[in-house]
Amino acid sequence: MSSFNFDVITLFPKAFELINNLGVVTRALNKNLIDLNLHDLRKYGEGSYRQVDDKPYGGGAGMVLKPEPIYKAYESIRKSPKSKTLLMTPQGKVLKQKDLLRWSTLDQIIIICGQYEGFDERVRCIADEEISIGDYVLSGGEIPAISIINGLTRLLPGTLGDPDSLINESHNSPLLEYPQYTRPQVFRNMKVPDVLISGNHKEIEFWREEQMLKRTFKRRQDLIKSEFRDLQIDEYDGDDWLWDL
Ligand code: SAH
Repeated sequence: MSSFNFDVITLFPKAFELINNLGVVTRALNKNLIDLNLHDLRKYGEGSYRQVDDKPYGGGAGMVLKPEPIYKAYESIRKSPKSKTLLMTPQGKVLKQKDLLRWSTLDQIIIICGQYEGFDERVRCIADEEISIGDYVLSGGEIPAISIINGLTRLLPGTLGDPDSLINESHNSPLLEYPQYTRPQVFRNMKVPDVLISGNHKEIEFWREEQMLKRTFKRRQDLIKSEFRDLQIDEYDGDDWLWDL
C-alpha cells in the first residue's frame, strides 16, 4: 500500500489520464509514494441509464448531481486513519499553499468532483472542507482535483529530485520567489545580473532576499498585508526604488 492515497469521485475518470504525463506525480505513482483510486460516479447511478443528475427543484437552468450516487460512491471508499474529504466548488475556500502543507501530513484525501450546475446541497454534509481553486467557474471539479493532487504530491517526502527546491519558492512564505536565470549569460541583449555570476554567496543571498521583497511589494502586496496585519504599506507608491520586475 502506498503512503498517500488519493480517492477521487468523478464522472470523468478519463480526465485523470493527464496524471500519467505529469512528471513529479507520474514518478510518485511509479514509485508507489502515492496511489490514485478513481471512483466512476456513473457506476453508482440509478436505473438502467445509471442516472446521476436531475433537474433542480424550483426550476432553473441545467442539471444537478443527485445525492444518492455520490453518497454510495463515498461509502464504498475505504477510509484511512488520517483522511479528509474535499468537495470541489467555486463557492469553497480558495486553495492556498498552506492547505496543501496541512494535508500533506494526512494519509488520504478523498476528492468529490462536481459537474453541470453542481451538486445537491445535501452532498455538502460529507465534506470536511469545500475548496475552490480560484474565483472563476470551470465546467467540472476534475481540473481542480488534479491541481490539488499535483500540488500536494510534490510536498510529500521522496517525490522531488531536490527537496530544497521547496524552501524558497513562492507561497511557502509570504514572499514570492526571487528571479531565476540559467545559461546563456546574455540572451537577446538581456543580461544575467552581475551578482549572480560573482560567486559571492553572501551577496547573492542578500540580492535574492531583496528581490523577494521588492517583487512581492510590486506584485502581491495583499500577501504581505495578510501575513503582517499591522504593517502600514497603504501609502507605499514608490516605484522609484523598484527595479522593473
Ligand atoms: N453552479 C455552480 C457551479 C457549477 S460548476 C455554482 O454557481 O456554484 C460545476 C462543477 O465544477 C462544480 O460543482 C465544481 O465541482 C467544479 N468547479 C467549477 N469551478 C470550480 C472552482 N473554481 N474550484 C473548484 N471547483 C470548481
